[in-house]
Amino acid sequence: MSDCIFCKIRDKIIKADIVYEDEFVIAFKDINPQAPFHVLFIPKKHISSFNEIEVRDAFILENIFLAIKKTVFKFNIAESGYRIVGNCNKSAGQEVFHLHFHVMAGRKFLWPAG
Ligand code: 5GP
Ligand code: ZN
Repeated sequence: MSDCIFCKIRDKIIKADIVYEDEFVIAFKDINPQAPFHVLFIPKKHISSFNEIEVRDAFILENIFLAIKKTVFKFNIAESGYRIVGNCNKSAGQEVFHLHFHVMAGRKFLWPAG
């Protein structure tokens, strides 16, 4: 996807503060953080949204959640807690159409989410 910002971050064409990377997953700090810790986890494969996930992508999601687990322990937020958010399409306010999970920590979060 040549016009996708997150593909460009994956390809290191656009600079980002990368906190985790493996064969299938890359994670970097959100440019407009909504919490002291705000990192986006994306599959390296371009998948536009949750609606486009296919059965053959299941292992990618496994890898994303394992990457999140490793990262929250690394940054010492596993015990205090964190929020994982995934926005899909207009009502949820999805802005970047490359599947991603927001992982946020370092402040108290409201429930239900806004
Ligand atoms: P969405 O609303 O699609 O779930 O969230 C997209 C997120 O990507 C937003 O929180 C926004 O701040 C972040 N973002 C957009 N463009 C860039 C960028 O070029 N670099 C980084 N690091 N984050 C970005
Ligand atoms: Zn992409």
